[in-house]
Amino acid sequence: MLDFLGDLRRTHMCGVLRASDAGKKAVLMGWVNRRRDHGHLLFIDLRDRTGVTQVVFNTDRDAAVHEKAESLRNEYVIAVTGTVKLRDANTINPNMPSGEVELVAEELRILNESKLPPFLPGDTALTHEETRLKHRYIDLRRDVMQFNIETRHKVAKAIRDYLSAQGFFEIETPFMTRSTPEGARDYLVPSRVQPGTFYALPQSPQMFKQILMISGFDKYFQIVRCFRDEDLRADRQPEFTQIDLEMSYPQPDSVWGVVEGFLRAAFAAAGYEINPPFPRMDYDEAIRLYGIDKPDLRLPPFTDVRECLAAENVQELAINPNLPVIAIRIPKVGDLSRKERDDIKPMFHSKGGARVFEDFKRIANRYAATAEAVAKKLDAGEGDLIVLVAGAAQASCGENGAAFASHRKVTPQELAIYTSAGLLRLALAQKYAERHQCFQKGDFRFLWVTNFPMFEWDEAEQQWMAAHHPFTSPHEQDMKLLAEGVEALHDPLSPLSAVRALAYDVVLNGTELGSGSIRIHRRDVQSRIFRALGMNEEEAKARFGFFLEALDYGTPPHGGIALGLDRMVMILAGAESLREVIPFPKTARAVDLMVDAPTPVSEKQLKELGIAVKKPAGL
Ligand code: ASP
Repeated sequence: MLDFLGDLRRTHMCGVLRASDAGKKAVLMGWVNRRRDHGHLLFIDLRDRTGVTQVVFNTDRDAAVHEKAESLRNEYVIAVTGTVKLRDANTINPNMPSGEVELVAEELRILNESKLPPFLPGDTALTHEETRLKHRYIDLRRDVMQFNIETRHKVAKAIRDYLSAQGFFEIETPFMTRSTPEGARDYLVPSRVQPGTFYALPQSPQMFKQILMISGFDKYFQIVRCFRDEDLRADRQPEFTQIDLEMSYPQPDSVWGVVEGFLRAAFAAAGYEINPPFPRMDYDEAIRLYGIDKPDLRLPPFTDVRECLAAENVQELAINPNLPVIAIRIPKVGDLSRKERDDIKPMFHSKGGARVFEDFKRIANRYAATAEAVAKKLDAGEGDLIVLVAGAAQASCGENGAAFASHRKVTPQELAIYTSAGLLRLALAQKYAERHQCFQKGDFRFLWVTNFPMFEWDEAEQQWMAAHHPFTSPHEQDMKLLAEGVEALHDPLSPLSAVRALAYDVVLNGTELGSGSIRIHRRDVQSRIFRALGMNEEEAKARFGFFLEALDYGTPPHGGIALGLDRMVMILAGAESLREVIPFPKTARAVDLMVDAPTPVSEKQLKELGIAVKKPAGL
């Protein structure tokens, strides 16, 4: 028999009682976390989101209440009225914040029962993730999940408060809208009222936030859901949350200052102190120093050790003396086993004519003086892992590199070496640095990467694509190259390869946290960019007509950025995957296991929408 709540009111949460509360009456409500039956004494750990308090039912005190308590099982929901008592010295639990006290039960109301759950919130061994996702309501009761979701709330609130104090307005933009390109497929929503037409869920509020600047709101932000239909790579979600903002008349560093400010507030909310301003690095420099556009600054950059090599080394090792010889150093990983060393070579994927020398000891045995010079140049210490990447004597040039390099300070062959080495450095860091605990908790190394290339050459389509999105402004100094470039659209060596974007990424420990840019505010420049992307005026009008029209009516210079909230919270909560910080996430196959979505719909619904579904082959 269940009891009614009646007029009973909770006086305390379960995690708050302390020694100073001894003697007080209290009414606690929560879930039965654990039950221990010691004959005449029955102990219940009562749990809510604030923690746990031990409740004791004593048969000598009240046999009827004790008997009722005997029927309690895990995850029953109860209300207990009692008196707070100090525990005997030998029963104090120092691992529990409320461990100095217990509640001596005087009245018990069983408010609800629970079936035996497929797993218990208090279990320390994690059950299979599919079971957790299917019974997410149980999973979310676990203290780690409660902590993650609380962290998410605190971080979002700190950001909201900070931005509001800086004069930003939080403004909502529609979900049922039309395609906003961010490089993924759209999720479509069919219209019933106009059969055969579809809304697109926004990949980002990009065009709306720009229109808000055209509308005079000056500073906008939104903590907003975005939808991208991508072939899901390991840790992606089809719907995810961005901290999206836009401002009028900014310099790039005006945006950076705002982001640094709210990140400081967000990190403080999660208990970490960070110290902006963050360092800044040109995209080209990031490639030369780290071989990647999102460098992890916790590990040292590349060192070019070409000059340490004698002519005979170069010959015997069959490497090209005119190309960089990159030394990758991962500090303090200790001695690698034979197997670990053998694992390195398969991690290396040459982007064209690059070679790897993974066994530095072997080099040292053969060329002692060279190895010594290299180690000195690297300032290498005991237990550092050193791997060399060099151009093969007959290096061919990476095709994609050709375009990039033609107007840049780096040649295609060099680029091939840098990017191959960059990927290897990352793989080594993941495999060895993490395992050998080279990274310290709370070591947050932020970086702004700036001046990205405006365009990327699409080999398959033989045309230029926007590296960011098509509303990103080119560098003012590169407008001439842009004008020349649109005359050479299908040429990978076009001056378009050298046009820099006023785009920037904020990077944290090798992860891209956010991406933004100064936008195009002039109609003539926007048209030229569409042309560069192989879109004629009609096509551009068909896709973005409303936006192009708005640009015609006094658009102020503007710019902004968007940062991934889920990823940020994941880092701050020390979680391993995005699914650990999203209350109701989807699997890698974009399925919500709890509600079982997506699902087929009824014939009637389809008919109303004017949709006929073709069964996929094989069904
Ligand atoms: N809309 C961009 C994105 O979602 C961010 C921005 O440029 O503000 O990546």
